[in-house]
Amino acid sequence: MKVKVVEEEILIDFTNVLSTTDIHFNPVIKKKNYLIKSFNSIPKKTTRILGVSINPYYFTCSCKDFRAKAKEFPKRDFRRMCKHLFIYLSKYHWDEMDSLTKILLEHKFWAKILNVIEIEINENTFFIGITKESIFIIYI
Ligand SMILES: [Zn+2]
Repeated sequence: MKVKVVEEEILIDFTNVLSTTDIHFNPVIKKKNYLIKSFNSIPKKTTRILGVSINPYYFTCSCKDFRAKAKEFPKRDFRRMCKHLFIYLSKYHWDEMDSLTKILLEHKFWAKILNVIEIEINENTFFIGITKESIFIIYI
């Protein structure tokens, strides 16, 4: 199987997979970006950390980095993550995070990962991460 990104499209070549099995693949792109889920256990109030105001429930921060990313990415998009939200969520709500969010947080994705796309193949969900140098697939 080969995966590559050409302009805005992700091309997945299943040629080798299909030649060795009779499985039929019908990949469907489910989401074109990864959204941080909301957790009811996180208080809805704004709090202060390292001199800025954050609201971890609504996934917002008053810092310059967050405000710049908020112009570029939709609400709750994981690429809006700034160091303040990262520190707070990692320190106080780590156990409540889903496994993919934890993987992304552990790898400090904002420095490397450009996007994460969700695809479904035969009722299995895969996440394709795109970095400047490579593409990786996460299957949970
Ligand atoms: Zn921030």
